[in-house]
Amino acid sequence: TFDRRPLIAGNWKMNLNHLEAISLTQKVAISLTEEQLGLVEVAVIPPFTDLRSVQTLVDGDKLLIVYGAQDLSPYDSGAYTGDISGAMLAKLGCTYVVIGHSERREYHNEDDALVNAKVKAAFKHGLTPILCVGEGLPVREESQHVAHCTTQLDAALAKIPADQVKDIVIAYEPVWAIGTGKVATPDDAQEVCGAIRARLAEKYSPEIANGIRVLYGGSVKAKNVAAIMAKPDVDGALVGGASIDADEFATIARFP
Ligand code: PEP
Repeated sequence: TFDRRPLIAGNWKMNLNHLEAISLTQKVAISLTEEQLGLVEVAVIPPFTDLRSVQTLVDGDKLLIVYGAQDLSPYDSGAYTGDISGAMLAKLGCTYVVIGHSERREYHNEDDALVNAKVKAAFKHGLTPILCVGEGLPVREESQHVAHCTTQLDAALAKIPADQVKDIVIAYEPVWAIGTGKVATPDDAQEVCGAIRARLAEKYSPEIANGIRVLYGGSVKAKNVAAIMAKPDVDGALVGGASIDADEFATIARFP
């Protein structure tokens, strides 16, 4: 058993149309027993256009998995062409929303202030943020990775009260490990996940910090998940590339 129920979340990124989404979600759900899904929470994070199909499948067949979105607007509604609000995601039954993924920070110039606004919007609409932090290679080479991640954390959580933050999920995703096949060592993951938890304890309280799940993300595969998950401050994984292969993803979710 675990102090915190581990979360294995599959970030599909911009892959799979809604038909493919139904097929993958079915395969993942069929591959995992009720017992396994009791031990580990499994989430799929498909593109927006797949969410309705995933919702229909999960609700209709009472699948024991949950789902979420890859991003949301900081606004509730209005003249923001192309954007999707937290209210819309909540209406579709989303549990989670990924915020501050390094691909959003890089390709859409999302800064810490916007990430903070999105965290507030997610909580406002009853969604659980999966807040991503992580350093690029130059920062790691200068051994500034811990400070970089805790600074991102501080900024993202500015003015987020304790009664909301207690439900958040943090994902430590070193940018140099995302999609590169270069997984962080278990000790690397523990170092930063532990520092994130310590920072949460300082900012809020040890009790709150102990209840928050801190995930690792970056080239997680079936073959490396168990060693990373064995670390005390790693409470799950945000899985990219390996999450669109049903067998691989289900195998990751069966790590215990
Ligand atoms: C991600 O995009 O969150 C991720 C961790 O990707 P990958 O597993 O492909 O490195």
